[in-house]
Amino acid sequence: MPNCKVIAIANQKGGVGKTTTTANLGVALALRNKKVLLIDADPQADLTTSLGWPNRDELPNTISTIMINSMQDIDFDTEDCVLKHTEGVDLIPSSIELSAMEMSLVNTMSREYTLKQGIESLKDNYDYILIDCMPSLGMITINSLAASDKVIIPVQSHYLPAIGMTQLIKTVGQVKKQINPGLEVEGVLLTLVDGRTKLARTTADTIRNNYGEKLTIFKSEIPMAIKAAEISATGRSIFSNHQNSNVANAYSNLAREVDGSGRHRTKSSDCR
Ligand code: ADP
Ligand code: MG
Repeated sequence: MPNCKVIAIANQKGGVGKTTTTANLGVALALRNKKVLLIDADPQADLTTSLGWPNRDELPNTISTIMINSMQDIDFDTEDCVLKHTEGVDLIPSSIELSAMEMSLVNTMSREYTLKQGIESLKDNYDYILIDCMPSLGMITINSLAASDKVIIPVQSHYLPAIGMTQLIKTVGQVKKQINPGLEVEGVLLTLVDGRTKLARTTADTIRNNYGEKLTIFKSEIPMAIKAAEISATGRSIFSNHQNSNVANAYSNLAREVDGSGRHRTKSSDCR
């Protein structure tokens, strides 16, 4: 696809909804008839497991295969790494092997671009590639940001995230300056919003007030719902059994915001 958009879903804090957002935003975009590839860039492989491949350490081809071949400049059909999910999204899985990559990359030429080079040929096949980042700002996350056009930052709304967000925005700014000038923050996504608690509401408002001038904060907020947590054990997205739930609606709305952002954009995010 000439206009494939690569989006990293990133936050160095764990448990903020990165993986859940990657899976459900991916399926929501597929429901809008977009061709979507999800990339699991976390050695924990939660995305791979939650989409129904729990024995990921037995998979012959993973993101590590792509990165090793890219590092060694070996000709290889990247499509061999792509798994097909029943809900219309494709997946490049991960496994624990990826954690070794953090070290191997250190002595590699163009080490920041290993993933970008590895997935370049796949861009012809997709409208969107979503990369589920690991909870750190190490070399694998830098590779994910270097390979991306946009970053979505999920933020847990019942935790005051000011310090973590500042660090992440700084890293995105550095990557933009030194490695990938085209990188932009697509938006901050408020997740795990418990509408019943005053703290969640106050935190959400604080984020909107403190960052809303500089960054796009998505209108869609992802509510806290036990269904969202439970589905990860089923290998399916929230759309397979709970398509009318609040969480499904929230991810549909988010997909509309992301998919329409070229046309409806009013604010350009700047992280410098
Ligand atoms: P991360 O990838 O940032 O570590 P996850 O997507 O794995 O975060 O989410 C962390 C935990 O919260 C998981 O157990 C997940 O099932 C749960 N979770 C995610 N989104 C929701 C939600 N909207 N409501 C309730 N639980 C959620
Ligand atoms: Mg995760």
